[in-house]
Amino acid sequence: KKVLIVGGVAGGASAAARLRRLDEEAEIIMFERDPYISFANCGLPYYIGGSIQDRSKLLVQTPEAMNKRFNIDVRTQSEVVSIDPFNKKVRVQNLELGSYEESYDALILSPGAKPIRPDLPGIQSSRIHTLRNIPDTDKIKSRIQEEATRSAVVIGGGFIGVEMAENLREAGLAVTLIQAGQQLLTAFDAEMASVLAKELEDQGVRLIFSDKVQGFEETAGQVITRLASGMVLQSEIVLLATGVTPDTAFLQDSGLQLGPRGHILVNERMQTNQQDVYAVGDAVQVVDFVNGQTTAIPLAGPANKQGRIAADNVCGLGTTYKGSQGTSIIKAFGLTGAATGSNEKTLQRLNIAHHVIYVHPSSHASYYPGATPISLKLLFDQQGMVLGAQAVGYDGVDKRIDDIATVIRFRGSVTDLTELELAYAPPYSSAKDPVNMAGYAAE
Ligand code: FAD
Repeated sequence: KKVLIVGGVAGGASAAARLRRLDEEAEIIMFERDPYISFANCGLPYYIGGSIQDRSKLLVQTPEAMNKRFNIDVRTQSEVVSIDPFNKKVRVQNLELGSYEESYDALILSPGAKPIRPDLPGIQSSRIHTLRNIPDTDKIKSRIQEEATRSAVVIGGGFIGVEMAENLREAGLAVTLIQAGQQLLTAFDAEMASVLAKELEDQGVRLIFSDKVQGFEETAGQVITRLASGMVLQSEIVLLATGVTPDTAFLQDSGLQLGPRGHILVNERMQTNQQDVYAVGDAVQVVDFVNGQTTAIPLAGPANKQGRIAADNVCGLGTTYKGSQGTSIIKAFGLTGAATGSNEKTLQRLNIAHHVIYVHPSSHASYYPGATPISLKLLFDQQGMVLGAQAVGYDGVDKRIDDIATVIRFRGSVTDLTELELAYAPPYSSAKDPVNMAGYAAE
């Protein structure tokens, strides 16, 4: 059996490793447009900020290691420019070899999503960056290491915008973050996001809300960013983080069904509408596990799981992907915010009847040193089924949201939250854990 994989990072590399485990004989070829495979996208901001010092740590697998360990033919700097599901072939453009065709028995697509670059005047300036991969990271890192680079403007207050604002600040720059909407981090409801926003401000990040970039100009080593309000900002570097769009232009005329925003449509076995073509990761449309709507959730956990499931199905195992619930977490300096399931805005938009409670328990027993409060918001339906949760605090936020994410996965209720028996000793929690407390408050 010959399996081709397009994309060599989260979804693609997971699919490749799983395929090899399931089938020792299969010929597996993985195409990656960039020079690197299997790098730690999620670690890139922290390398720029300096918490990760060693660049080589970002390279989780090299093509050579992947070949040696899994016997996978990894072809970097090889872009798949079109696919032909009718004749079961793809066309590849390689830097040295030029253009050639490769046939397949099964094809797994994991091309990911690319940063949106709005069509604004002056956007071509070499000082305006986006962040997706190692080459982007190298450019940003070398720019901020220049002595003259003192300030940065970050455009967009999503996960990558906030992580980059923090890390550019950590790298010693004066940072201004511009957000078109009224709140940062739309995975959270406004009152929870505002706590994270305050932490950013307390740590010296200047925040500008409800304003939009109109264009840029480059002058004498600086970029001038003009906003709709008339405000003008000057910085040596601009980071654009206004969201991502599926990297699926090469599939336009392939007969593959795409959604309205270019996402590949797949069923629960990650199969596309074309025989033996599978797709996974940021490029696909998924079902929202909580509310059943179609959505797209560009996160690493879902991409890895889907890669594995696609490989299972190539090998006839028939496993299924049951949807994404958007469990996510962000560090804003000392503070952590985490969320899972639907937020209140989404439930309101979809007219789903729900209740909301807030609790503010301590991260661990208050008599043991170092306890800090956690603000926990819980959303549940009329029958008590848990629909979503968000938490912000300095410590222990991750495990509380992970507990609730697990309960949501098993379609559990607020009573289930009260019944969870969780690890407790004073340095870690309380006999009534914050998750139990949320359940009690909700019952
Ligand atoms: P990718 O990992 O993007 O891989 C797709 C690969 O396909 C790319 O390398 C691309 O070059 C290649 N490719 C595309 N088209 C072609 C083609 N035609 N031919 C050949 N190759 C092609 N998620 C989290 O859950 N937590 C985090 O903390 C987090 N932090 C992030 C931080 C940053 C800076 C970024 C950029 C992303 C972060 N993410 C995070 C998101 C996460 O990285 C993605 O959800 C995940 O990588 C998606 O996997 P994928 O396989 O779909 O796409």
